[in-house]
Amino acid sequence: MAAPESARHLLAQNEHPYPPLPSVLAALAEAGADLHRYPDFRPERFAGIVADWQGVPAGQVVVGHGSAGVALDLFHAVVEPGDNVVHSQPCFDAYPMFCEIARAEARPVPLGPDARHDLAAVAGRMDERTRIVVLCNPHNPTGTVYSWAELTEFFRRVPATALILLDEAYVDFALDWRAPDVPDRIAEWPNLVVLRTLSKSHGLAALRIGYALAAEPVARRVRDHQVPYAVNRLQEAALVAAVAAEDEMARRIAGIAAERERTGAELRRLGWAVAPSATNFLWVEAPGDHAPLRAELERLGVAVRYYPGQGVRIAIGEKDANDAVIKGFTAVRP
Ligand code: PMP
Repeated sequence: MAAPESARHLLAQNEHPYPPLPSVLAALAEAGADLHRYPDFRPERFAGIVADWQGVPAGQVVVGHGSAGVALDLFHAVVEPGDNVVHSQPCFDAYPMFCEIARAEARPVPLGPDARHDLAAVAGRMDERTRIVVLCNPHNPTGTVYSWAELTEFFRRVPATALILLDEAYVDFALDWRAPDVPDRIAEWPNLVVLRTLSKSHGLAALRIGYALAAEPVARRVRDHQVPYAVNRLQEAALVAAVAAEDEMARRIAGIAAERERTGAELRRLGWAVAPSATNFLWVEAPGDHAPLRAELERLGVAVRYYPGQGVRIAIGEKDANDAVIKGFTAVRP
């Protein structure tokens, strides 16, 4: 799954192309001086920072080891062996893995023809043993998005015994996407869990900072299943600095979104089917043999993620990386 480290353009893991902001690096260096001290036993101060930032009470926040870590804590908290979890397929690799870890029956549902969730089919797979229905919005690997109206129409069909895990890892790149503020969403949907991360838009993947926002009983239940000292001092320092630098982040995001549109348009002009993306990556439909494309991209030093028989997912990098992608796709016509 990991990109070959030898590749010049590492576009296989949906990472941010730029290193952390200088203000974040400075905060990390400063926090380093206190690494002989424990972080909070329960991460209350950390949750308080997220709560102030997102405008929710601290009781509605769960923080953890990346959003993947928080999602796994949620699985541990609510899934009993024999319960089931419904998710689209393909999706973020961790969800099928979490089903196995939590001994849930995974119920994968193929995506619809527009590379979006097939919400009718997802609804059809839910029953009284469904504990979690996972919806990545925008979706990984396709970058596609549902409107809030479409989502809430679906939420009405979810049994009250199931939680809706709305994974918004990439939502900061969805510049045209609109939804009510999270506090209003949580007030209206007591079984909704909104999952976020600083790995993608904030470019801090290695630091593992993620959080979930949910109604208090749900959030408490997840916190009760977490390991003590769940987040550390470096994460806290980076979070504070990242929140203070949101304008700078927004400028970087706008630049990535512009490159995404340019690269997507070029690939479409070449005849490739590229899904509309609300993320920092592109999904190119490629049901045939990937070998010629792979050989060409590897020759150009480009590592992307291949989904055999389905398509290719390409993170947006700096301009030279995106130009290398375009060159590779030019050499191998659809
Ligand atoms: N959700 C989705 C949809 C993702 O694609 C990823 C990372 N690839 C994650 C969650 C996990 O992110 P984190 O680094 O916060 O664990």
